[in-house]
Amino acid sequence: MSTTKKIGIFPGSFDPITNGHVDLIKRAAKLFDELIVLVAVNTYKKSWFTPEEKVQLAKEVVGGIPGVRIELLEDGLIANYFREVNATAIIRGLRNSTDFDYEYGIASVNAKQYDEIETIVLFASDHYRYLSSSLIKEIAYFDGDISDMVPDNVNQAMKAKRFEKRQ
Ligand code: ADP
Repeated sequence: MSTTKKIGIFPGSFDPITNGHVDLIKRAAKLFDELIVLVAVNTYKKSWFTPEEKVQLAKEVVGGIPGVRIELLEDGLIANYFREVNATAIIRGLRNSTDFDYEYGIASVNAKQYDEIETIVLFASDHYRYLSSSLIKEIAYFDGDISDMVPDNVNQAMKAKRFEKRQ
């Protein structure tokens, strides 16, 4: 029997990390010896948080889960990172059919970069399937209540960012 460590990578923008991400991380952590939450820079999306802030928030929220660590991918492709750490699979979440098309596309592109890449998608839990970081930013910007959607530290950090943005 092989003793190779099973390493999962959960890449995302995490701008910010939400209760939906946390749920997925807890579930995915059970499937691997080690789960790397990889904060990746998405060139298409405008961020509220810097990469370092996203990492800090994520560490506070999920850093204590056994087997979970948080890393920053500042530059370079996820496919290359996957190869470097000798990962087993990429984990992504699926909320709806829009996610399906998007995730299928990314999985195919990643597999073209490096054909050993396996992507595993987990369905969003019912309770979180309507949650997205974009929606949360929209609500937070207009001072709506997001306390049910994000961990406490993120809620506080969003309030501070909102204040900066509205100056
Ligand atoms: P990206 O810019 O890479 O899509 P996100 O941080 O928006 O980064 O999402 C990272 C992953 O988490 C994606 O696979 C997304 O589908 C998944 N995800 C986001 N929100 C939820 C949620 N509420 N429940 C389950 N999965 C989610």
